[in-house]
Amino acid sequence: MSHPDVHVSPLTTKAVKDFTDCQQLWLWRHGLGYAPREPNKRTLVRALVRAGLSTYYAPEAIGAGDGTVHRRMGFHTQWNTRALIDGLTQAADGLLAGIRDRNNGLLPPVADEAFELAVGVLEQYGRWAPKNDEFSVVAVNHPVVAVVAQGISLVDTVDLVLGSSMSEPSLVMLHRLYSSIPSGAAHMQHDFRAHMLMWAASEDAQFPLRVRSGTPLWFNEIRKAVPSPPRTLKSGELSKDKRQNTTRELYIEEISRRGLSPSDYHDIIEALDPNKFNTRHWLYVDDDMLDYVHMYVHAVASRMALCAETEGAWQIIHEWGSRCSYCDYLDLCQSLRHMQCVRGLLSSRYFKWREDNATNEFGGPVLGSA
Ligand code: SF4
Repeated sequence: MSHPDVHVSPLTTKAVKDFTDCQQLWLWRHGLGYAPREPNKRTLVRALVRAGLSTYYAPEAIGAGDGTVHRRMGFHTQWNTRALIDGLTQAADGLLAGIRDRNNGLLPPVADEAFELAVGVLEQYGRWAPKNDEFSVVAVNHPVVAVVAQGISLVDTVDLVLGSSMSEPSLVMLHRLYSSIPSGAAHMQHDFRAHMLMWAASEDAQFPLRVRSGTPLWFNEIRKAVPSPPRTLKSGELSKDKRQNTTRELYIEEISRRGLSPSDYHDIIEALDPNKFNTRHWLYVDDDMLDYVHMYVHAVASRMALCAETEGAWQIIHEWGSRCSYCDYLDLCQSLRHMQCVRGLLSSRYFKWREDNATNEFGGPVLGSA
């Protein structure tokens, strides 16, 4: 019999990943469903950027109205950037509503800082994406559901289903945020959450694309940093140092704003990495990957179910490691380690976000999906 407070299903890819990283983390966040009252900046930025992208790519964003958005090169850069920021502003209201409610209608400074960074990241995306979005958007935040074992389903969402023509879905895109974008494509092989999503999509008869061996999976890689305009030298010219924190687009904008001659800066513009802040990499689904994920998720779900059956499940395992120093639940684990009761901490610094299954991770309303 399961412990009445501990939930295994519905299972998400994040729950499986957290369980693999640290079982105690899974228990706090997913099994018992506690979230910190004041989330950290990293979590907020990720959620805000994703919310902005969801609204940007949603069919309503350009009023197509037929469930399909067709994007091609050449859209006006300002228009796209604006759509992103408008989308973020709309989405942030709902996303952060839970935090505001718990803070007497105010947002803590960390939320303002996260919003500012998310705006900068999305503005950069809005400059870069129109030159790279040669696809039609079939679905945004499309749900996937796959049965893992009796009574346990993996339930999650896929960021984008895309087509190379107006109507035919042919590939999947997932957004990935990095402090610095890894070079090469090897890191994608280790993105187990992406592999789980592909397995779930391959099992889900309602998914708009038939995912199987050979289906392309595209990683939309976004750096969580804001580029600056090029530096100005004492002479009044723009610096030609290619290591500066800028982009080709900002360089060109600055040349135009100052009325400088583009031909004088052609060499540095060519030398700047066009994918320093945004890039995309491909991975192809293969049968071995799908088979392995199925076995793995099944094994993890069984171990979670065992944890849920444990009486007094608040204290399963204390896996101290390097990730503890930035973990949202460190104070709880430290208290447990000193054999102190954590009930007071739980009620003062955490809230149960999954109590009614109708809130996002910050306690606000769940954003609409495809
Ligand atoms: S503080 Fe460490 S042991 Fe505790 S949940 Fe976080 S990662 Fe796990």
